[in-house]
Amino acid sequence: MKLIEGKPIAEIVYAECLQSFEKLKAAGHLPGLAVVLVGEDPASQAYVGSKERKCQELGMHSVKIEKPADTTQEELHAVIDELNADEAIHGILVQLPLPDHLDEDQVILRIDPAKDVDGLHPVNIGKLAMDDPTGFAPCTPSGCQRMLIESGIETSGKDVVIVGRSLLVGKSLALLMMGKRKGGNATVTVAHSRTKNLAELTRRADILVAAIGIPHFIGKEHVKPGAVVIDVGINRIDDPTAKKGSRLVGDVDFDAVAETCEAITPVPGGVGRMTIAMLMANTIRACELRAGLAD
Ligand code: NAD
Repeated sequence: MKLIEGKPIAEIVYAECLQSFEKLKAAGHLPGLAVVLVGEDPASQAYVGSKERKCQELGMHSVKIEKPADTTQEELHAVIDELNADEAIHGILVQLPLPDHLDEDQVILRIDPAKDVDGLHPVNIGKLAMDDPTGFAPCTPSGCQRMLIESGIETSGKDVVIVGRSLLVGKSLALLMMGKRKGGNATVTVAHSRTKNLAELTRRADILVAAIGIPHFIGKEHVKPGAVVIDVGINRIDDPTAKKGSRLVGDVDFDAVAETCEAITPVPGGVGRMTIAMLMANTIRACELRAGLAD
């Protein structure tokens, strides 16, 4: 069994980012990312903190905007409008989920699609569906695809089953993997909470992706021997033996599935590492596109 770890693949992405970054700097451009956080959710705060640190490590311009949990829709739209107009900002990421009283779709719609480095604006989802390379694909699915490419796993003509149909992960990954670009050309099936005979379906997969949000949901019975398994899930479970009293696990029962599959991503240390890397790559590309320096 081969372990597909996120860190070395994220490093490849960062090395490419630095190369593009140097070219941009030489031409007088500095990529800038703005991250907007509403409320005080600790997990969101941690994600935003790591995004900011990575920007600083790469030498990018980074802005963190923190708003209180009772921010109104209009106030949040005003923040986005300002960032849309800010020449120093190439990428805008609004950390999700937002507090319940805010309409996430309206917030995403407000972002200039050219700065939507999270790839969730309908223009970018449309470009993804059209195989148009000028759009931005959502970071987590792009990260999954990049892991397959860098691990030398053929996707063309392969049967891929994705469990989970969220726009953030499952549905966007389906578009990427059935697309005609590198890491695509697969025959994709998307399963979800209403799918019948799930194990029967997932056992057909050459590549099985779990994006469900239920700890250890995918067991040995769901996996064809020799399949490749990508675990997108990040779930915190109680563990009295752990220092914090809890630990992170994926949607896949790693120990059981590792016995039968050909390759698998761990949690933590797998797909999660790729999400920030692809965000940085999208932001640098947004800057290249604006500067007219994109390949
Ligand atoms: P979501 O709740 O939006 O979607 C979950 C999907 O799972 C739904 O489409 C639902 O139909 C499906 N599902 C639920 N129960 C099911 C069942 N019994 N059988 C089959 N399908 C079922 O979640 P999401 O935002 O797509 O995230 C999924 C997981 O990925 C979560 O654990 C989340 O924390 C993780 N995640 C990780 C990253 C990362 O960077 N690695 C990024 C985003 C999300």
